[in-house]
Amino acid sequence: MIYNIALLKGDGIGPEIVDSAVKVLGKTAEKFGDKFNFTSYLIGGAAIDETGQPLPKETVEGCLKSDSVLLGAVGGYKWDNLSGDKRPEKALLGIRSALGLYTNLRPAKLYPALRSASPLKDEIVGDGFDIMIVRELTGGIYFGDRGYNDGKFGREAFDTERYSIMEIERIGKAAFEIAMKRNKKLCSIDKANVLETSRLWRKIMHELSEQYPEVEYSDMFVDNAAMQLVRNPRQFDVIVTSNMFGDILSDEASQITGSIGMLASSSLGGVGDNKYSLYEPIHGSAPDIAGKDIANPIATILSAAMMMRYSFDRADMAECIENAVDKVLEKGYRTADICADGEYIKCSEMTERIVELL
Ligand code: NAD
Repeated sequence: MIYNIALLKGDGIGPEIVDSAVKVLGKTAEKFGDKFNFTSYLIGGAAIDETGQPLPKETVEGCLKSDSVLLGAVGGYKWDNLSGDKRPEKALLGIRSALGLYTNLRPAKLYPALRSASPLKDEIVGDGFDIMIVRELTGGIYFGDRGYNDGKFGREAFDTERYSIMEIERIGKAAFEIAMKRNKKLCSIDKANVLETSRLWRKIMHELSEQYPEVEYSDMFVDNAAMQLVRNPRQFDVIVTSNMFGDILSDEASQITGSIGMLASSSLGGVGDNKYSLYEPIHGSAPDIAGKDIANPIATILSAAMMMRYSFDRADMAECIENAVDKVLEKGYRTADICADGEYIKCSEMTERIVELL
């Protein structure tokens, strides 16, 4: 098969880590007799420097005609003083909305080999955990009405949480389908004891759970979920939640794995009948280490593996990449961010080791 992938390398460590993933994909394609066509487009600060805007029209058009998109990261000190609308990060919301990406998958996996990297005690993490957070990405309070008023106590600001039945149903279905592909266990997280949107969320999730009798379904309030993630993360398999709760909980979940440089993510959705997807590491552009060849490329390499599984239905390729990452860690290779004893290898060498193990 031939797959066309748009590359949005972006800023900071973005180009280094995307180049690593491209090398891994190149070798994987060779092994399986497939082919990837890669086309790079500008995004973020690099796009501002070249075109004056963070998300040029050509980039959106290029992504729309590709089979999937691999993004590095955007942002950096150079553009920090620009106003909100002109900042590199503005491109992230822009590309998600252009591609209609409403489902965000954020795996939080603690590898047995990296157990000591977790800030949690050994008896809590056991031999590791593997949680998939499914976050609604295009609705809720981040996209609701907002503004300023003159209220009872003077000048005030407001943001509005709003969810339609359609939005809840489509993210709920996506989460149940993912639970079916994993261990058939799903926990929906809300604040139904306080928020009206959460009460609707819970009602729809319960209705959907009847269509998936094989899935062990439960609800949890978000404040309890924040506690349970550090008290007993191994109780979770797939979690589904709204945009804001997912934003916060997925960062918490990534923190308890111990390394931001290891975690992949994907955003799925579509416009009309067209399906689109974008894969990216959860971390940012790490301007503090950019250009030093010391970034951890694994999050981006695992994002590419997710693309194989969720966009191209190529579990064979995904497993091949994931196994190579497992093996490289078992052999003791570490980049600076995950090494405990000061013995680390560079980004380029980590990439070579993984390519050798494919
Ligand atoms: P960050 O994730 O870039 O960095 C946080 C810390 O983690 C830094 O010390 C960094 O060196 C380290 N780190 C991150 N990724 C790493 C990797 N792969 N290997 C080794 N170490 C790694 O977050 P930040 O410092 O808050 O933000 C930096 C810039 O990135 C900002 O401009 C921010 O707006 C942007 N950002 C972009 C995205 C995105 O493009 N999706 C996401 C978050 C932040």
